[in-house]
Amino acid sequence: MAKKPEKLWQTPADDALRWVRGTDLDALDESATPGWAGKRRDGEELMASRAPELADLQERLFAHGRTGGDRSVLLVLQGLDTAGKGGIVRHVVGMVDPQGVQHTGFGVPTEEEKEHGYLWRIRNALPRPGYLGVFDRSHHEQVLVVRVNRLEPQKTWRKHYRELNEFEAEVAASGTLIVKVALFVSAEEQKERLAERLERPDKHWKYDPGDIDVRSKLPQYIAAYQEMLDRTSTDVAPWYVVPANRKWYARLAVTELLTGALRSLELGWPPADFDVETEKARLAAS
Ligand code: AMP
Ligand code: MG
Repeated sequence: MAKKPEKLWQTPADDALRWVRGTDLDALDESATPGWAGKRRDGEELMASRAPELADLQERLFAHGRTGGDRSVLLVLQGLDTAGKGGIVRHVVGMVDPQGVQHTGFGVPTEEEKEHGYLWRIRNALPRPGYLGVFDRSHHEQVLVVRVNRLEPQKTWRKHYRELNEFEAEVAASGTLIVKVALFVSAEEQKERLAERLERPDKHWKYDPGDIDVRSKLPQYIAAYQEMLDRTSTDVAPWYVVPANRKWYARLAVTELLTGALRSLELGWPPADFDVETEKARLAAS
């Protein structure tokens, strides 16, 4: 008999992907499938089979929030253009009830946002109790694009590592479980994905001429990502580094991380705040 697909995780995604400080990011194989011993088809099968559990866990979280609980989950997605952040949102987050999801994409700060500190828009987007928050890019851009494009002097952006950690410690203490995922595609894969965006009229809207400038600064971005991972991966807000050349693997991996995070909350169903038998009798008599 075929192995159960979850057995194909030789090392659970959580352990296989959790960033270990000082690992050389430059040496990452973006086509690898850390922890996973199966093929694409096995991965797709496992991912599909997780859908009911993921939806059930998210509904428990939502019910918990509706009944006065203070827990929430924040999935942070970082990655350069074409890394597949949008695909994670559609295919992984898309498996749960959208009414329980608070999704926010962070772009170049607007005039209004610029009038406030960089954490202002982030705080405003934090998930309320019971919600699954999803950040497509995040406060970490403050040590990525801001650093690489010299939008702030070094002595300013250098302070952000500590601020980010303090901020996340505060968010975690308020009941939010933080899962940070950094997706990496190779330079060649990125080129192919950008070429596809140029070939296909239905993808032109995703193309940004600025993406080519980012490509010319890839080594600087890798250095910035390296330091971000080393300095902002903490016990309360760990980074998971996901090789993303194989979309099916990246989606499976994030499914596993998210399912594991929700499971760890150990939420039951909230008890009824009414007498069930009395209500049954009332209903029958109505
Ligand atoms: P996209 O994710 O393709 O919609 O692009 C969003 C753009 O906003 C990217 O080019 C980011 O580098 C940029 N961006 C996000 N956050 C910041 C920030 N804090 N400062 C400057 N640019 C940012
Ligand atoms: Mg873009």
